[in-house]
Amino acid sequence: MLKLPRFFKNDVHKKQLLAKLKLTNCPFCNCSGKLIKNGKLKGNDANAYSDQVVNRGQRILCSKRAKSYQGCGKSFSIWEADALPGLSVDALILSKLLIAWAEHRSVHQGWQELSKCLSLNSAYRLWRRFGQVQSTLRERLARISLPPDCPGITEPRHQLTEHLKNSFNLADCPVTAFQAHFQTAFMGET
Ligand SMILES: [Zn+2]
Repeated sequence: MLKLPRFFKNDVHKKQLLAKLKLTNCPFCNCSGKLIKNGKLKGNDANAYSDQVVNRGQRILCSKRAKSYQGCGKSFSIWEADALPGLSVDALILSKLLIAWAEHRSVHQGWQELSKCLSLNSAYRLWRRFGQVQSTLRERLARISLPPDCPGITEPRHQLTEHLKNSFNLADCPVTAFQAHFQTAFMGET
């Protein structure tokens, strides 16, 4: 039996999963053969206030249509690894923001590098939320790598960013890599 992930790790993973939906048990009622694709999760492209719509994931439904043996009718989502559930910015912008914050040691100055992508208020909201989830993130990262020495960095959130970068140092976007690896939303889900 296939276990459904929370995030698609990459395009190949996504293709394989969606091709085998009929062989996958519903996470709610556990019946098999009833899961169907039920539309994509769309969102606005968070880059530079563009009007483009981007794909943020796939909705999946446990179909009730069959007459003989029905599914439960519940639906759920599998997210693209670069989508942040519940937030309008994507993982790439968040990664850049975290890195800019750590480099500048300042929320305001770090935000200025990305001011085309989000407002200062949004940046501060993300900073606060990052603070709320930091202990969970730290605990997860500790499973795969030790926190690096960060001489001169006193803000725990900046230290955490260094830990994140080190843990996924080959990744273009460490937040995407985190979600694909741990199968959990980087900023939590509200
Ligand atoms: Zn079901």
